Amino acid sequence: MNETRTTCPYCGTGCGLRVSGASANVAGQIPAIKVQGDNSHPANLGRICVKGSALDKTMGLQGRLLAPHIKHQRVSWEQALDHAAQRLADIIQQYGPDAIAFYASGQLLTEDYYAANKLMKGFIGSGNIDTNSRLCMSSAVAAYKRAFGEDAVPCNYEDIELADVVVLVGSNLAWAHPVLWQRLAAARAARPDMQIIAIDPRRSTTCAEADLHLAITPGSDSALFTGLVNWLITEGKEDALWRSRTVGRTETAQAAAPWTADKVAEYCGLSRNQVEAFYQLYCKPRRVMTLWCMGINQSATGTDKCNAIINAHLVSGQIASPGCGPFSLTGQPNAMGGREVGGLANQLAAHMDFTPEAIERVGRFWGSNRTAHKPGYKAVELFQAVERGDIKAIWIMGTNPAVSLPDTNQVARALAMCECVIVSDITAHTTTAAFADVLFPAQGWGEKEGTVTNSERRISRQRRFAEPPGEARPDWWIIAQIARRMGYEKAFDWSHPHEIFSEHAALTGFENQGERLFDISRLSRLTRTEWEQLQPIQWPVNSHYPAGCPRLFQDGVFAFPDGKARLVPVHPQPPRGTTSKYYPLVMNTGRIRDQWHTMTRTGMVEGLLQHRNKPYCEINPADASQAGITENRLVRLQSATGWMLCRAVITDAQPVGQVFVPMHWSSQFALQSQPGALITAHRCEISGQPESKFTPVRAQPV
Ligand code: SF4
Repeated sequence: MNETRTTCPYCGTGCGLRVSGASANVAGQIPAIKVQGDNSHPANLGRICVKGSALDKTMGLQGRLLAPHIKHQRVSWEQALDHAAQRLADIIQQYGPDAIAFYASGQLLTEDYYAANKLMKGFIGSGNIDTNSRLCMSSAVAAYKRAFGEDAVPCNYEDIELADVVVLVGSNLAWAHPVLWQRLAAARAARPDMQIIAIDPRRSTTCAEADLHLAITPGSDSALFTGLVNWLITEGKEDALWRSRTVGRTETAQAAAPWTADKVAEYCGLSRNQVEAFYQLYCKPRRVMTLWCMGINQSATGTDKCNAIINAHLVSGQIASPGCGPFSLTGQPNAMGGREVGGLANQLAAHMDFTPEAIERVGRFWGSNRTAHKPGYKAVELFQAVERGDIKAIWIMGTNPAVSLPDTNQVARALAMCECVIVSDITAHTTTAAFADVLFPAQGWGEKEGTVTNSERRISRQRRFAEPPGEARPDWWIIAQIARRMGYEKAFDWSHPHEIFSEHAALTGFENQGERLFDISRLSRLTRTEWEQLQPIQWPVNSHYPAGCPRLFQDGVFAFPDGKARLVPVHPQPPRGTTSKYYPLVMNTGRIRDQWHTMTRTGMVEGLLQHRNKPYCEINPADASQAGITENRLVRLQSATGWMLCRAVITDAQPVGQVFVPMHWSSQFALQSQPGALITAHRCEISGQPESKFTPVRAQPV
């Protein structure tokens, strides 16, 4: 039986998979494949979760987009490509390059992402390409850059197992990254002294399993970690070596000084004993990891929250050695790959900013004198610019922003009035696709070739094992075809994704002489056969680290000119939204164990609906009683921007004054069930990441 080693297309854990058996997609038939964890892949060592093991059930043709369409009429590829390229060219000629935008996805492969970024920033000449990764980890990106001088996750999954104390903050790891949770749970079973501390307003599955659960007031995370910095300093727990490796200590200590344990306890809704218990566990001279996810990043002060966490690791010296470090977990399979190619609107390419030197250098590498000179719109701003009419054409690739962005009513208005909406997807009838003027059928998981990078900087191959159905094509091919029709034949003259990967890898080291951290230029020399056989490897991959680098900054040298890390003074701020007598509850959103994003794949698998099969809200018994809500009663949640319907789950795991709603449902699966409609588009001023964890709402029985 044929066996293909590939990578899971869901969460940022990036598990290696072994897929055995394959067959062509035939209408009405599910390819006969079996999916197992790959025990040779360092990310999962053979483990797999329920979503990964159900991947075979997502390979059928139900709901697949199989042919190009213009205005929902089937057309040939030639017609669709000619039409889209002409529309883009006409709009650029009439309004300029900034009237065009791309909205990409952490689901794209690195080669697809590179092609999209090159076309927009290199040849159309605008910075207007952003991505759903903006909603995922852009606060962590900004914080790493502020602290280390480079967007670089310093640690790896093995460190989680080596730690003595693992702090999980804003992360329901057991559901959102199940295989990492399995690894952590196994490590604790082997070393019962290991302590897991979970910081989360609600008692999630992860918190219920933790040794210490701190149910903090929503949005108070910065205060808890800034208080920790103050505790480290006042209790004499600073690490002397690391003090010499950082700058900004005086200002950071001053900002932290007011945050005594008493003040932290009051601000965070904890007892002083709880705060002290956390600080003392952290301060023992052992190995500490902090893992965080959307509960930190999706905040109007997300970047500061991330820096508060990183500050604590720099002050305590819990960094750059085995079992230590501040670790932002990415949500998506290739959020990291998007960061690498410049898929965020504020990056140029290959982790380079829009500096005059980088613009000139990248332009020379690409052979273009049209390279964008300034950042473009970030996700939320981008769709606001569409609604204002500043952006006339948008190309949405592999994502469903009409469900996943905040204030989805605004997104729908923007798409409805946009002159030209192009959508590339594998699914025919998403909420977003309904607005499309042009629909391109993309190839899906198992049908295309390329690479992805997981949360620990590990580049892995996704490999093809099934024939693409209908007329589906790879995203990079679609982008290159449009580019060629716009007159950029030479720069997009690729015939295989290996050529794109080589070009991308070469750009990371172009004229840098090994000075930049994100450098995988050694991989640019891979032959096609070597690329096809590429084993998982962690960047950088250059002359210093020819076999990759599992742990960064071990020499204590950071990416700033003076080589030192930066402590960033953090002044904790409350969330932007406020509750009132009209909206007395705080709505929090998150993932559930068995669904992925807007359910366009997992929502069609019956087995994955056994766990949770309908939109619901978790609400405390006291709040339910006050509102007259009973178990399983249909509830209307209303915010200042919209409303949704869901079933009540009454539980004391949910604190008084708060409701929790899964992020996944939309009208595609249940009437009026979209939490994004309720979320105001407040966002972090530094990262642009929206605040999805603090929406004032009211709950009423229907
Ligand atoms: Fe896929 Fe994430 Fe599950 Fe691994 S943990 S199998 S990457 S969904």
